[in-house]
Amino acid sequence: MPHEIASPLYQGKVKSLYETGDPDELLMIFDDKVTAGNGEKEDYPQGKGALCCDISTFLFRNMEHNEIRTHFIRSPGHGAMVVKNLDMIPIEVICRNIAAGSILKHTGVEEGTKIEPPAIEPHLKDDSLNDPLLTWDRVRMMGINAQPIVRNTIIINKILTEIFSRCGIDLVDFKLEFGLDADKNVYLADELSPDNMRLWQKGSKENYDKDLFRKGNGDIMEGYKYILKSLSQLQTSNEPTD
Ligand code: 5GP
Repeated sequence: MPHEIASPLYQGKVKSLYETGDPDELLMIFDDKVTAGNGEKEDYPQGKGALCCDISTFLFRNMEHNEIRTHFIRSPGHGAMVVKNLDMIPIEVICRNIAAGSILKHTGVEEGTKIEPPAIEPHLKDDSLNDPLLTWDRVRMMGINAQPIVRNTIIINKILTEIFSRCGIDLVDFKLEFGLDADKNVYLADELSPDNMRLWQKGSKENYDKDLFRKGNGDIMEGYKYILKSLSQLQTSNEPTD
């Protein structure tokens, strides 16, 4: 377990990865930590790691059920997830269904504008450069095959939109990361939680995501608990979600 291991293999801002005895598997620990502004602002809400892990577990299981390969193997709970050891693709893919966040100042589009078809944007995964926006041509120049990434993102967006819609929530936007196995198959990696998506009550802009912390206008724990509770209610009515 993590506290018996001296140092993580990889330390992210709110998650760390540890080796296990199996070279094909890693242990991902979701920390009780939230950051914004590329680490400029941070807080340590107790239980936040377990919440993000549980929400991610629910959503990864649904992805697998819908034939999307993910790095999820199992979750022992308490903010820990056993994941496949993948070769990570160094881009972040942002998918936008409704205009919010950085796109507002970059485009002048009004907040809340529907984006149809959804915008799928590659960003370089590099905090030291502030994850700059790329183009799909630049992604190709980096030697990355964009096609399966875009195809998976479109399908993931449909699945997530449908799941949240059944909870009365609009999926505004989200960020994905992908990795490759030894045979170059593409897997969805990282996490699927309100830390990397915007979730608004349908028909309003009341939100249950990390913007509560970014903007300092609410308690993320209340928001994240609401999301987990809403998803769990779906699970009991129809398990798993199609
Ligand atoms: P924006 O471009 O508006 O900052 O972000 C768009 C969406 O991607 C939001 O849901 C946001 O939470 C997510 N996102 C963008 N960059 C990151 C990042 O570096 N980390 C995380 N966790 N989410 C991100």
